[in-house]
Amino acid sequence: MSCIFCDIANGILPAKIIYQDKDIIAFDDIHPKAPHHKLIIPRKHIATLNDISIDDKDLIANMTLVSQKLAVDLNIAETGYRILINCNKDGGQVVYHLHLHLLGGCKLSFAQW
Ligand code: AMP
Ligand code: ZN
Repeated sequence: MSCIFCDIANGILPAKIIYQDKDIIAFDDIHPKAPHHKLIIPRKHIATLNDISIDDKDLIANMTLVSQKLAVDLNIAETGYRILINCNKDGGQVVYHLHLHLLGGCKLSFAQW
């Protein structure tokens, strides 16, 4: 099964990568919905939030810590930002590889989507 975020993590598809470690990669969203819009993904393929298990707890915690670090680096930690995960159709998920959105750089509306 092809997956565009696996392809980005494996260097097959280009992306503006802003962070990476052995488990996590972060890059610019190709269609930003805010002045700063980054995606934080696990290197391993996890389709949706429904598919995480207790074994992934460190990974999910570390993805949250990466978003916090990026917010500091982007100078939006104090002004504020939003992280979110869309799950399945009604949640607005389009790419079925778990990803955390980091949005900031403006006053975000509730319906930023
Ligand atoms: P979601 O609706 O939560 O599945 O969000 C998927 C996000 O992936 C959207 O915000 C898209 O703009 C973004 N996206 C899709 N393809 C790419 C890509 N090749 N590089 C970067 N971001 C992408
Ligand atoms: Zn994938």
